[in-house]
Amino acid sequence: MTEGDLQALGEQALEEIAGAVDQDQLERVRLKYLGRHGGLISLGAQALAQAAPEQRAGLGRAFNAAKEATEAALARRLGELRASRRGIDQAEEWLDLTYPTSPLPRGHQHPVARLIREIEDIGRALGYESVRGPEVEDDQYNFELLNLPPDHPARDTHDTFYLAGPAQGWLLRTHTSPVQLRTMMAGPPPYRILAPGRVYRRDNPDPTHNPMFHQVEGLCVDTNITFGDLKGTLDFAMKAFFGSSVKTRFFPSFFPFTEPSADVQISCPFCGGSGCRKCKYSGWIELLGCGMVDPAVFGFVQGKQPGYDPKKISGFAFGMGIDRIAMMKYGIGDIGLLYSGDLRFLEQFA
Ligand SMILES: [Zn+2]
Repeated sequence: MTEGDLQALGEQALEEIAGAVDQDQLERVRLKYLGRHGGLISLGAQALAQAAPEQRAGLGRAFNAAKEATEAALARRLGELRASRRGIDQAEEWLDLTYPTSPLPRGHQHPVARLIREIEDIGRALGYESVRGPEVEDDQYNFELLNLPPDHPARDTHDTFYLAGPAQGWLLRTHTSPVQLRTMMAGPPPYRILAPGRVYRRDNPDPTHNPMFHQVEGLCVDTNITFGDLKGTLDFAMKAFFGSSVKTRFFPSFFPFTEPSADVQISCPFCGGSGCRKCKYSGWIELLGCGMVDPAVFGFVQGKQPGYDPKKISGFAFGMGIDRIAMMKYGIGDIGLLYSGDLRFLEQFA
């Protein structure tokens, strides 16, 4: 055996030690190289005894270097394997399925969605069912059947987006009122529905306008429904939504699909009526439009839904913009923030 052989043996031993994956394998490597009987490096000792005197010093140095390096590597690898074993044992001891995890990122409702839910909850308590309808409508459902013929001046405030190509004649709805019509067309009264959803107008975006916004409309149709029912319903709903001290008052107004029509103001829930920035120091906030369903609308429905008698039934409808209420309630100065998708803004409502 030469010095080179011993050196190569030593390197081979180091490689196998590093590759040992557990203590048993490491022990087998130790016996292979350092075992008293037949250990490869131990054989070097025999070679040393038989070597010529002039080779002995060199062989001795190579033997010692290989042996020491192997012993040191074995000790180090044993330490590593024990440490990782301890890691496994500890992990097993710490496996506690009831232990609280680090907090997971949780989402929350958009302020507009949250307000719609709150309004739906109040409606449900009054027996109103929530109904969704299509956002793409035709002229009939968005305008004509709601008593808004093509030349009606009230259409000016409902300028919207019209679809082109094969969908020509279709438009993005300007209010959720078509949902009321669709409900009436689908079957006979009574109905008590809320129709929340997105609506569109061709408004240039500014702090108080956005081409897309949200409405919730309500419709109640039955026999003997009066304006008194409308006032009582809205007064109850506003108290449920803003607090029991809130008062409502009604002013004459005009909508093509209701007659008579009214605008509804509530006493300012933020200052109690004494005057603040949110109510422009008037103590009142205009919040809703409403009215008794125009008999002409019932007449249109009767044309499509036989058995529907406008003489026997009456009803009321109301509607409000949710985005405006959200801005007022949360003190948001720019409607665009609601749709910016900016998490720094939205996370304030978590
Ligand atoms: Zn106020």
